[in-house]
Amino acid sequence: MVTRPKVVHWMLLAGALAIVACDRDKDSAQDKTAATPAAASTASADTTGPPLALPSDSGPPPSFDGDRAMQYVKDIVKFGPRPVGSANHKKVEEFIASHLKGDQVEDDNFTADTPEGKFPVHNIIAKYPGTKDGIIVIASHYDTNYPLRKTSYVGANDGASSSALLLELANQLRGKPRDGYGVWLVWDDAEEAIKPDGSGGLPQEMPFKDDSLYGITHVAEKWQADGTVKKIKAFLLADMIGDADLNIDRDTNSTSWLEDVIGEAAKRLGYQSHFFARTNEVGDDHVPFVKRGVPAADLIDFMYGYNNVFWHTTQDTVDKLSPKSLQIVGSVILETVRILDKMDPLPPK
Ligand SMILES: [Zn+2]
Repeated sequence: MVTRPKVVHWMLLAGALAIVACDRDKDSAQDKTAATPAAASTASADTTGPPLALPSDSGPPPSFDGDRAMQYVKDIVKFGPRPVGSANHKKVEEFIASHLKGDQVEDDNFTADTPEGKFPVHNIIAKYPGTKDGIIVIASHYDTNYPLRKTSYVGANDGASSSALLLELANQLRGKPRDGYGVWLVWDDAEEAIKPDGSGGLPQEMPFKDDSLYGITHVAEKWQADGTVKKIKAFLLADMIGDADLNIDRDTNSTSWLEDVIGEAAKRLGYQSHFFARTNEVGDDHVPFVKRGVPAADLIDFMYGYNNVFWHTTQDTVDKLSPKSLQIVGSVILETVRILDKMDPLPPK
């Protein structure tokens, strides 16, 4: 889940650039601005900084099994609704852990104080070391929408798709010493708002920014306190990336140069037509890291069905997704990591 305070479409038609401010979301009037004014004001769809020192295109394309990732999506969805504090949530925790056996795994457990009371929150972090000094973090939330917990809502795209993607990334990273930065995968918890925030068609009771991102905020605070934040070269977030009609947004809350690297990775793999046709401002799990000066990017397709009708509804089901979309995003993330490994120096934060 994410907030979307405003939406801008960039449409290139017959050589003319038409900017269309679009009020496509019936709930947009209820959305609140994500608390990232500094990042939002400096980032744009245009590259304004110095040219990136990109390494030459070399090596075989990265391997990523979209079919296996899709099977993980189906496995996760079978548990049913997975809101924080539920028995189904516990099952998906165990499912993720069962696929990380033998890996270096850190559990980050704490109790979140929310408007609906206290909840146990469980972030799962798997670490794959590299030869270079520095870390690239790749994250996904795995909880499902709390206000919809008593419906048939399963969050196939919103929660399951990106969590499955990370499980397949783990398969690709496991047992292969990286000649580059260490990669840490984070399955973060309690991303979704606890009180209705208007996004699910329910009356707004609380702005998203004041009641969400519990798990990843805890991780960011912890890594700031122990100095880990300084070692993070990039924070890549995946959210709602399984849509069969895949169009990843360019997000103005994300770090502009890192979005450029993602675009370059997509181009090198021939997937550029799935990236950045739209520009959006997204409040999501990357925000706590943006606030702490970490280069961060949200890979999200925030147009899920016509007018985003499948988002936060019981229509968010597996039949809307495609293994090809998982393969595209997984491959582009791995190619982005490979480019970052070879970019020396990385642009200043
Ligand atoms: Zn959501």
